[in-house]
Amino acid sequence: MSFKSAFLNELMERVEARNAGEKEFHQAVREVLESLEPVIEKHPEFVKNGVIESIVEPERIIKFRVPWVDDKGNVRVNRGFRIQFNSAIGPYKGGLRFHPSVYEGIIKFLGFEQIFKNSLTGLPIGGGKGGSDFDPKGKSDMEVMRFCQSFMTELSKYIGADTDVPAGDIGVGAREIGYMFGQYKRLRDEFTGVLTGKGIPYGGSLARKEATGYGLCYFTEEMLKDNGLSFDGKTVVVSGSGNVAIYAVEKATTLGAKVVAMSDSNGYVYDKNGIDLDCVKKIKEVERKRIKEYLVYHPEAEYHEGCSGIWTIKCDIALPCATQNEIDENSAKALVANGVKAVCEGANMPSTPEAISAFQSAGVLFGPAKAANAGGVATSALEMSQNSMRYSWTFEEVDAKLKDIMVNIYHNASSAASEYGMPGNLVAGANIAGFLKVANAMLAHGVV
Ligand code: NDP
Repeated sequence: MSFKSAFLNELMERVEARNAGEKEFHQAVREVLESLEPVIEKHPEFVKNGVIESIVEPERIIKFRVPWVDDKGNVRVNRGFRIQFNSAIGPYKGGLRFHPSVYEGIIKFLGFEQIFKNSLTGLPIGGGKGGSDFDPKGKSDMEVMRFCQSFMTELSKYIGADTDVPAGDIGVGAREIGYMFGQYKRLRDEFTGVLTGKGIPYGGSLARKEATGYGLCYFTEEMLKDNGLSFDGKTVVVSGSGNVAIYAVEKATTLGAKVVAMSDSNGYVYDKNGIDLDCVKKIKEVERKRIKEYLVYHPEAEYHEGCSGIWTIKCDIALPCATQNEIDENSAKALVANGVKAVCEGANMPSTPEAISAFQSAGVLFGPAKAANAGGVATSALEMSQNSMRYSWTFEEVDAKLKDIMVNIYHNASSAASEYGMPGNLVAGANIAGFLKVANAMLAHGVV
């Protein structure tokens, strides 16, 4: 699809040529540029001053070798990345992903999205992302520790509490953050909030673990409320069974919904009686096993191999919380045919552009990731504040701030969509609201 604006067409072509083969990054940039068409008509100064061209170019890309030794004494070599995308409104902030699918295009798309998401939180954080093609699955604790230490040995040269503050993402949870924090402290001899998602005893924030999933539900609740609906009595499907998925299920259930399905990268479970979350936590958080194990405890539930089948389950609300492009056009059409009323994205970019069109043209309420999953990074920014103050808020205090932030994000995205002539289009609204703050800061800072 081409843009009405010749400038945007030319810029998109340049992005594709300069970042050849990085299809996830192209997808993320195209979506934002589409949303910006009405903005550049109203604000030609952003084009004139090169703000749009600058915002699609990372400030810095760091790429490095990560050698480590496995339990058999073999030297293994992975590749590490940190993309410091935009620091106009604060230090770079964004997670680290450890997954075999990681390459520069994945980190670039995630870093780019992070700019707008972080801006939407209303907190002073710029956009960044990092990770490695290392696969923690099947590795011993000692192997994970040695990998994390080697990764941080190099990364520590580029990050700091006031420059760049990484956190977790797929494959990086409390265990990995702990090993990396320990190595940073050892190398730099300083105890600072250089990472978020830390354990509570050494500077972590209460409610950070729950924040992305809870925040997703607070956002969804506000979107439903604005449209005369609620979670109460609704049937919900949640993909994934990691950090985001588990706490989305917890909050949706508290708000009166029944979650009937969850998944991992092998398959999904369907439990018509409602997912037993304690059982999932035991399998995933404690034992690090596959979701299939659920049937050992609940033989009456069903297990199906493959991920996309989860979207054929009849539900009122779908919360994709696994990975990018997990809902394609066919899955979206299956959800629509089964009467889904709302889809809110916990994962980053889980719906393809064709899936988003299918939801929007069927009148399904759609909450895009940038807005709906911003609760994790928002609470990471609250962790940074607490670290700077050498002080901790209670769980209830952090949770209340998180809820406020998510409600505000919903209304800011919704207002921006209306103001630019696309009422109800939260994809455009989130992109525009996130963009304006960063773009104005970039203008204020001067061109170079
Ligand atoms: P976790 O590693 O804790 O969990 C990821 C889950 O998604 C697992 O169940 C995993 O299954 C599944 N999954 C991963 N890759 C694939 C794949 N290729 N196909 C199918 N399933 C897959 O990660 P998080 O819960 O932290 O992250 C989930 C999503 O949420 C990601 O898109 C992430 O970027 C996004 N996100 C996370 C935030 C956070 O605070 N953690 C903040 C904002 C967004 P398996 O175990 O089999 O790999």
